[in-house]
Amino acid sequence: MSSNAATLALSNTRNAVYWLDRPDTPQPADALSGQTEADLVIVGAGFTGLWTALIAAEADPGRRIIVLEAETAAFGASGRNGGFCEASLTHGLANGLAHWPDELHTLLRFGDENLDDLMDTINRHAIDCNAERTGTMDIAVEPWQVDELQGLAEASSRLGVDHALLDTEAIRAEIDSPTYLAGLWQRTGAAMVDPARLAWGLQSAAKSLGVIFHDHSPVRSIEKSGTGLELHSDDGRVRTGRAVVATNAYRKPLPKIRRHVIPVYDHVLMTEPLSTDQWAEIGWHGRQGLADAGNQFHYYRRTADGRILWGGYDVLYHFGGRVGPSVEHHAPTTRRLAENFFHTFPQAEGLRFTHRWSGPIASTTRFTCAWGTTHAGRVSWAAGYTGLGVGASRFGARVALDLVDGLSTERTELQMVRRRPVPIPPEPARWLAVQATRAAIKRADRREGREGLWLRTLGRFGIGLNS
Ligand SMILES: Cc1cc2nc3c(=O)[nH]c(=O)nc-3n(C[C@H](O)[C@H](O)[C@H](O)COP(=O)(O)OP(=O)(O)OC[C@H]3O[C@@H](n4cnc5c(N)ncnc54)[C@H](O)[C@@H]3O)c2cc1C
Repeated sequence: MSSNAATLALSNTRNAVYWLDRPDTPQPADALSGQTEADLVIVGAGFTGLWTALIAAEADPGRRIIVLEAETAAFGASGRNGGFCEASLTHGLANGLAHWPDELHTLLRFGDENLDDLMDTINRHAIDCNAERTGTMDIAVEPWQVDELQGLAEASSRLGVDHALLDTEAIRAEIDSPTYLAGLWQRTGAAMVDPARLAWGLQSAAKSLGVIFHDHSPVRSIEKSGTGLELHSDDGRVRTGRAVVATNAYRKPLPKIRRHVIPVYDHVLMTEPLSTDQWAEIGWHGRQGLADAGNQFHYYRRTADGRILWGGYDVLYHFGGRVGPSVEHHAPTTRRLAENFFHTFPQAEGLRFTHRWSGPIASTTRFTCAWGTTHAGRVSWAAGYTGLGVGASRFGARVALDLVDGLSTERTELQMVRRRPVPIPPEPARWLAVQATRAAIKRADRREGREGLWLRTLGRFGIGLNS
């Protein structure tokens, strides 16, 4: 049944990013041409670059800041994501406990402050991005996942994280899927946003403070020049004292970031708007973001115009870490996503998907951002949020600014900041390791979450693959 419903639902679906496929997409800024000067250059206009620009401009209105973007603002993961804007800086509580048990209280505090400040910025600059602090709900769809949620609920209680554990009846009263067994509602630690409108709003706020943007200006190289730096694009160059590289999954202009960061493709579907009757059949009453609790998981949410965004499950890695349009569409992956949608919501048969797309998630072996400096500390970079960068990128930007300004702060002293993730081996070992890990994750999900030798060995070294 879910197979027929998927075929029909995908019969007229556009290969386009829903968030970017709208009439209010801003006009691109002029490309960089000739020679110019700045105090700070930011490479990349995704969330990391935009937050860096805005925070730096707010802190020092006299600083001359230029943002160079290879395409247009929000072209990368920032315009393609699910819009789950979470407080967690550690890719969830369980991952935080596994890697930084001793500083988790501090990381939780930083995460809460970061989300509060992010929401405050949205309000202060009147950014119209449908931000709603709804929280998120993890959902068990297999009996072994119920135990996992109970464990997570106990850890949440210990750490003072606001939550509620819902049994089968309670979770199905919230959303009526026949697959649901239990739910863990993290009530305050997340907002749902329209990611592209958030990015465009941040860009517009930064512009109002004097930040200069150049689109279609890929940075090809960063070179030392006297006591400063020179950044080269196709038709222009900028001399500057400092630079922050915010290119996340993309290789240039600092290929060495790829030692710690691997680009994996995550796929997304968007339905047409549901009618009142269709919402009633699904029985979805709240507006929380949802995710099932398997190792391979779906994330899904309602949009402001009454659609369902449904993404995740399988992540694809392309040999050599290729990114870009040539690897963006993969019919078997979107088909499986569609079938899983109708398995979760059989009542929705007949609903169609209007958009399908994918985007590069930059992952590290510990699933959180990594930071570094190059060019004698004049360049800093932040990359690798895995699937939780909408909120965390603001924190990533703050740390990248501390580093490039040579400041020692409570943030820069964190173990999470000082220690890099375990590096990923080069090709072809990289490709083989990713394929082995993907297969092992699928096996674990089929065997009630039990991990085989490969995942247990990786786990002992505190490393893994996630989205
Ligand atoms: C499909 C998908 C779903 C996701 N869902 C969620 C979610 O629901 N919640 C969540 O928290 N996170 C999610 N994420 C992750 C989140 O979107 C990212 O962590 C976050 O957007 C990273 O922002 P960024 O600015 O670091 O990177 P990006 O947004 O990728 O920005 C990098 C920018 O750098 C530019 N660039 C690259 N090379 C150059 C160069 N040489 N010169 C100039 N510019 C360059 C690119 O064009 C791009 O605009 C998702 C990601 C994907 C792909």
